[in-house]
Amino acid sequence: MPSISSTIIDLPRLKIKASELKTDRILIHMEPDLRFKPRCSYCEAKAHPNRNHKREIRDLACFQHKVYINFTYREIICGQCGTVIEKFEFVTPYARVTTRMAEAVGHLCKYMNLSEVAKYFALDWKTVREIDKYYIKKQLEELPLNNIRVIGMDEVACKKGHQYFTVIYDLERNQLLRIVEGRTEKAVSQFFQEMGDHCKNVKAVAVDMWQPYTNVVKKYCPWARIVYDKFHIISNYHKIIDIVRRREFAQASVEGKALLKGSRYLLLKNKGNLKESGKDKLENILEYNKQLNVVYTLKEQLQAIWDNVTVPSFLSALNQWCDMARETDIPELTIFANTLERHTTGLISYCLYPINTGPIEAHNITINLVKRKARGFHDNEYFKLKIFQAINLRDGPACQL
Ligand SMILES: [Zn+2]
Repeated sequence: MPSISSTIIDLPRLKIKASELKTDRILIHMEPDLRFKPRCSYCEAKAHPNRNHKREIRDLACFQHKVYINFTYREIICGQCGTVIEKFEFVTPYARVTTRMAEAVGHLCKYMNLSEVAKYFALDWKTVREIDKYYIKKQLEELPLNNIRVIGMDEVACKKGHQYFTVIYDLERNQLLRIVEGRTEKAVSQFFQEMGDHCKNVKAVAVDMWQPYTNVVKKYCPWARIVYDKFHIISNYHKIIDIVRRREFAQASVEGKALLKGSRYLLLKNKGNLKESGKDKLENILEYNKQLNVVYTLKEQLQAIWDNVTVPSFLSALNQWCDMARETDIPELTIFANTLERHTTGLISYCLYPINTGPIEAHNITINLVKRKARGFHDNEYFKLKIFQAINLRDGPACQL
């Protein structure tokens, strides 16, 4: 009958030889259970043991005690793979912790940052990072590019300064397909080159008015509709509101400054999402400041252009908006209107392919949360994995702790 301790520890193919309670840990010595023949860690074929080695790894804690497993494992000579070490389900070759501990570390890394997890488990943060990378890679599958019809592309600032990733989505399935480093034509071409012949399936691509993206789509999918979607246009317009707001703040009197303080959120949010107090404050700001009133009113009218579902009505609303914007004395608005006019074809494409880029907007928020939690990533590979985890594994399997 198995003992309670071996049942709890549950490391198949090993049996407990001895255990020691030290000041800061429990050390469990284990040795091979000779009822089982060792198996190759690559091909799993049974093989004869050659010689023994010892290894010590961390396991999940037992009450307030850290637990270490010191176990003997066998080197074997596999007919197919040569000299290898035997396979165990509870640990991967060369890992410093058991698989169940790695899963617990990885699971907590979904909700806490590296230093918090490192502190909780009393592990080095670099070890935690490597465990988390392994844990995410194990769960992620690289999505095939063979039947993608509607693509969404967006840029993500990844570090201070001007370093970007381009995130590429399958908008029909709402999945993140790839992340490429950079936002140049060369960088984004990698994705379409990987897609190869499957580019012919692409019907529409939603992008920002960033010229390299447009150029790459035209090069690899010339038949596809380029759609400059509402979300990206409004995001760009927010930058103009911000410029005008800062300029007005700098020129305002002491009372004006007091009124404009904290106005950024009120001006960028949709009115419907504001509380009553916010709405009142916004009304005061718009009454007090003519320039902000102009940019705010034009924001609401710009958003309304996408309510037009036919090409003629969309085009007429767009032209009207551009005329109004140019009639103001705000230079940034003239530049914005001219940019919109240069991109008219891609804007009215929305009527033919009314792509919902809401998921891109939502994922942008997720990516920013990932970035904030990590307080700046120094490891691009890890940052990309965390983005994939947050987006594609959002309902992923939870591990048992
Ligand atoms: Zn083998």
